[in-house]
Amino acid sequence: MGTNNRSYKAEKVIERMGEKLNRQMVTSLAGCVHCGMCIETCHYVLANPGDPTYAPVYKADQIRKIFKRHYDWTGRVFPWWVKSKSIHTDEELEELKDTIFGKCTNCRRCSINCPMGVDYATFNRMARGLLVSVGVMPEGVAVVSKDQWEIGNQMGVLKEEYLDTLDWMQEELQSEFEDPSIKIPVDKQNCDVVYSINPREVKYDPRTIADAAKIFHFAGENWTMPSEGWDMTNFGLFSGDDELGGAVARRLYEKTAELGGKKLVISECGHGYRSTRCEGPNWGAYDVPFEMESSVITMLRYIKEGRIKVDKSKNTTPVTFHDSCNNARSCGLFEEPRELLELVCTDFREMYPNRAENYCCTGGGGAMSMSEYTNRRLKSAKIKADQLKETGASIVVTSCHNCVDGLTDVIRHYKLGMQVTQLVNLVSNALVIEEKVLVPVEEIPEVAELEFTGRKILVADDEPDFVTFISAILEDNGAEVIKAYDGKQALELARLEKPDLITLDISMPGKSGVEVFDDIKKDKELRSIPICIITGKPELRKLIYEHPDSHPQGYIDKPITEEGLILNLRKIFEVGHHDKVKVN
Ligand code: SF4
Ligand code: SF4
Repeated sequence: MGTNNRSYKAEKVIERMGEKLNRQMVTSLAGCVHCGMCIETCHYVLANPGDPTYAPVYKADQIRKIFKRHYDWTGRVFPWWVKSKSIHTDEELEELKDTIFGKCTNCRRCSINCPMGVDYATFNRMARGLLVSVGVMPEGVAVVSKDQWEIGNQMGVLKEEYLDTLDWMQEELQSEFEDPSIKIPVDKQNCDVVYSINPREVKYDPRTIADAAKIFHFAGENWTMPSEGWDMTNFGLFSGDDELGGAVARRLYEKTAELGGKKLVISECGHGYRSTRCEGPNWGAYDVPFEMESSVITMLRYIKEGRIKVDKSKNTTPVTFHDSCNNARSCGLFEEPRELLELVCTDFREMYPNRAENYCCTGGGGAMSMSEYTNRRLKSAKIKADQLKETGASIVVTSCHNCVDGLTDVIRHYKLGMQVTQLVNLVSNALVIEEKVLVPVEEIPEVAELEFTGRKILVADDEPDFVTFISAILEDNGAEVIKAYDGKQALELARLEKPDLITLDISMPGKSGVEVFDDIKKDKELRSIPICIITGKPELRKLIYEHPDSHPQGYIDKPITEEGLILNLRKIFEVGHHDKVKVN
């Protein structure tokens, strides 16, 4: 305990709050008149009627009372009058953590209905940063932040894996169009466009990289991708850590400047766009010497300038559009995606409410990395599920990778039977290329038919339903599957059967996945077998990634999709399975 019987952490939180206050923050902290107009705007409230702890004004008051007690004269002199209250113990910090990380996605929907201009999300983010600075945060936030600090991107994608994926996508495009001149240039100097992406594209959705490359190529763009500093996402926006935010943004800016790029194009990602284009220059104290643009605007420009031609009759399935909170509410990017949709689809249906009033996908604010709040998140998604269902569309389009994951979870949980895609996929599919035959984007997964013929795959997981689920997918695609339900059995079967690949759960009773991984990597006869980790506990992945000699060749978070599983395993087989070397 420090002074006033206050824990060291509580002391630091209070002290650092003073350093974070600025005019905008104080206006929001002091301005609330408790009218309650914000309450019904929050998706958590709609899903939990009668529970006041989800109300934006209640959640804001948990931070406000500390501000009032220490930084507002009314709270110091008349604490009972303005309900100011200090914070003393680590337990109170844990309670605050549950509110600011677990009951708010920082979506800012409540702020648009506040007559006093209170922007709760702004100081909720500040409070997250204060707790992070004393080590109080959900495990997933710690893991992802560490990856972004150490490896340079928030999914722990190694440089070699990233470059292998670009090569692979280049080969796919060259063979699709039988044209070796199609390139994904890396580190080309003085280009008009430097293209930055979300690491999720490398890990789970490389077709978005190929689709963007196809568009750049047929637009005749002078473009490149950086070999490093290519991650335009920024976990600092979610964790509230301005230092991480600044370091990540500077990595991207400095690499683009070093390449002499004239424009940094940011692929479809709401928080990446907001962090890179709007917040990053301030966090990183960096005077950006080039233009920055969302790829949505780039694609629209290419069509308007006649650099690419599109045929909307190639996308006839009914689609709706989900506005990412960061793109729409925070950055005003909501007309351009609609203009683009009207150009590349025949049946676009609005979702209501939309644009700045749209509801969060419920995976915003880093919620997808906080597995302890998954049930709460999915419950709060009822309004989103209703919105989606009412459109009658079969596909939901969104310009945000975080929303792709959030919506996929919502669609699965509420059994909506919809697909999620991005504008880049639709534009790519609608491209008109003279005398070339295009493979429609929806058909790409179908190359997975008998994808794994002749491959022996060991599936190790202690959940029998899950083993059955992925075994069925792999067997449908031609693989011979061996099943193990605990770590000991997995190791025995690996020795006996020498499979071509192992999918390995981390958390299993008895011998854990980490021990199995370790034993396999120590065994001369087994160590070259590629391993794809599949886990529902992202916080455990550091145990594998911190392995001294080797990294797994693939990594998938549960819940998984059929397409995600196939793409990941295909990638492992296609790019080879040498041990990865950690790149710092
Ligand atoms: S920012 Fe969004 S999630 Fe947070 S309280 Fe406001 S409406 Fe609810
Ligand atoms: S609408 Fe604004 S003033 Fe009213 S309770 Fe909510 S934050 Fe406070």
